Amino acid sequence: MKFGQFNLYIVRECTFKLDGGAMFGVVPKTLWEKVSPADELNRVPLACNLLLIETPHGRVLVETGMGIRWSEKEKERYALKPLIDGEAPLRSLGLSNEDIDFVIISHLHFDHCGGAVRLENGSLVPTYPKAKYYIQKGEWDLAHNANPRAKGSYRLDDFEPLAKAGCLTLIEGDSQVVPGVAVKVSGGHTGHHQVVTFSSGGERGVYFADIVPTRFHLPPPWVMGYDHFPLASCQIKSVLLETAHEEGWLVVFDHEMGVPWGRLRAAADKRFEFLALPEETLSFKLPVKSQS
Ligand SMILES: [Zn+2]
Repeated sequence: MKFGQFNLYIVRECTFKLDGGAMFGVVPKTLWEKVSPADELNRVPLACNLLLIETPHGRVLVETGMGIRWSEKEKERYALKPLIDGEAPLRSLGLSNEDIDFVIISHLHFDHCGGAVRLENGSLVPTYPKAKYYIQKGEWDLAHNANPRAKGSYRLDDFEPLAKAGCLTLIEGDSQVVPGVAVKVSGGHTGHHQVVTFSSGGERGVYFADIVPTRFHLPPPWVMGYDHFPLASCQIKSVLLETAHEEGWLVVFDHEMGVPWGRLRAAADKRFEFLALPEETLSFKLPVKSQS
């Protein structure tokens, strides 16, 4: 999709499932199951939507998804279905791994960082060998020293090889990656979780990552149980949504199963409604079931 001088693409890397209670935090199941029905194991369907931003200053890939380094047992646990070629995740767009100049990872949970590295002749190497990987230093430190509640979402193998390969850029705070593409520390989901903002030719947009993972998470109190600082998530979400609505930003959801980008419209009780862009803006087909 054209976006000022940029081209934007959604890469649907996989679909998977997580426990509905964990996805919706303190929201009672009687409310969330109306919008996101659970399967017999109480899991709700999710996707990993990567955002590719082509800019005059290089190609920026936002997130890397789950990757393919999972055992059969784990695949079953998460109902994980990779939708990309694990060796060349962007092949469907006609791009090779060498074509990516920058990778931004919102935080190091395995569903965001699992695709950052791949196996080559028995060792783990960066999937995008020419890219600089932008990660918050605070998130990096946490991932190496997480307490027992936080630990389960991190796998050292997903990101340690980046440091060894010398392609890691650890940033501290808000920062510009290329002209028009920047990261902003949101906190909330993890203490140093970052969202990505992008603007070109008068258009503006935001990739919320896990601050607003799906359209069902638009109401500020609908915060994931996984969040380290749920009250901060609720707060920053309200601020981001208000700005995005006021200024007509494109909003992008990382785990949405339907069309994951669109605009916001004001609804009752100071809430916002999501107006998805037409499905034709996507370079892949949605499963018919997920469009409801
Ligand atoms: Zn996460």
